[in-house]
Amino acid sequence: MKRNLVVGAGFSGAVISRLIAEQLNEQVLVIDKKEHVAGNCYDYRDRNGIMIHKYGSHVFHTDSEAVWKFVRRFADFNQYMLKVIAIIDGIETFIPFNFNTLYDVFPSTLAKKLEEKLLAKFPYNTKVSILEFQNQDDEDLKFLANYVYEKVFLYYTLKQWELSPENIDSSVTARVPIYISKDDRYFQDKYQGIPLEGYTRLVEKILEHPNIKIKLGTDYEFVKSPKNEFDRIFYTGSIDEFFNYELGELPYRSVNFKLEEYDREYYQKGAIVNYPCNYDFTRIHEYKYYLNDKSSRTVIAKEYSELYVQGKNDRYYPIPKKENIELYNKYLELAKDSKNVYFLGRLGDYKYYNMDKAILRAIELFENIIKE
Ligand code: FAD
Ligand code: UDP
Repeated sequence: MKRNLVVGAGFSGAVISRLIAEQLNEQVLVIDKKEHVAGNCYDYRDRNGIMIHKYGSHVFHTDSEAVWKFVRRFADFNQYMLKVIAIIDGIETFIPFNFNTLYDVFPSTLAKKLEEKLLAKFPYNTKVSILEFQNQDDEDLKFLANYVYEKVFLYYTLKQWELSPENIDSSVTARVPIYISKDDRYFQDKYQGIPLEGYTRLVEKILEHPNIKIKLGTDYEFVKSPKNEFDRIFYTGSIDEFFNYELGELPYRSVNFKLEEYDREYYQKGAIVNYPCNYDFTRIHEYKYYLNDKSSRTVIAKEYSELYVQGKNDRYYPIPKKENIELYNKYLELAKDSKNVYFLGRLGDYKYYNMDKAILRAIELFENIIKE
């Protein structure tokens, strides 16, 4: 029987472990350097009974039937659909920018004129990324594009990445396009929600199988001769660390969440409020909204983006830029010599995955392995 080592107990590691344990009936040892499972999706109930998302707000959303079917085996979800409030020049509105936003931030005669021009140019219910949206010939639409670029994207992107929108891969700002519609929701996926018992419990349940053993607080660095002891290694940590940084370090962004507790029922009007043009933090999370937790107190987190520095903070975001992707690809070339070592996950693939994409990647990797 083959022995498998899975490095990382986030969604990627948990899903690949479960599939191997269940469908191949093989032994799996899962290690994680953290003292908990669920990786960046880890949540816990605090002393007020509020479910805190330790590494920032996580809202599940997917269009994939396979992913939804998989997670629904292990958890029930509510029907939470995220609407992100934004404060633009002191005006409260929603992001992504859409027709409702137009009427919130401009006088109605101007909003109407812009709405008509937009409808003449773009089909209703479509999405346009900010970088495409900037290519306008019409003077009014040019004005609008400059407004949205500056008020929604420029300063937020500078805070988040220390780069302007043109200097990061266009897929990053395209995650939050302009909607030619009145849809205020952050995501349009068919399936959306929050697991009723939290993400940690969901990941624990994925890992609950007689063939799976878990060792927390264990770094791969300290596993003795892993390549001799295990037939396959699934690595969801960062590939540069696996190779002892021999080609150089892959850069990441980290995040610092400053928690504040208040003796009042609510702090703000929704779970996430973005501050695209004010303050040093990018957004404020108020966690009790996700599961409608009842408490006379509330907890918020102000999110500050910072550079990842080894030994100082954690990796949160790969930085999708040409030179970083080239360096990652050089590591992949090196990896060709490490037979039976598979890289996956947001860190292992150096890809800006949402939860569903990390899960899908693990499912697809498993399907490839069984064909080997
Ligand atoms: P991770 O969760 O990072 O897990 C990797 C694990 O590997 C970690 O536990 C780490 O400790 C462990 N590890 C690494 N190196 C080693 C080593 N050498 N030895 C042992 N263990 C190691 N997605 C959504 O779908 N919706 C959202 O609303 C959403 N919000 C997000 C908000 C923020 C602020 C962030 C940062 C991400 C968000 N995501 C969201 C994305 C989501 O967090 C990821 O898709 C998901 O966590 C990826 O899972 P993973 O297992 O690949 O990686
Ligand atoms: N973005 C922005 N203003 C906003 C929201 C998002 O400029 O109000 C840009 C920014 O570059 C950000 C990217 O869009 O990094 C993706 O945003 P998303 O909310 O998807 O980021 P995540 O939730 O993954 O941090």
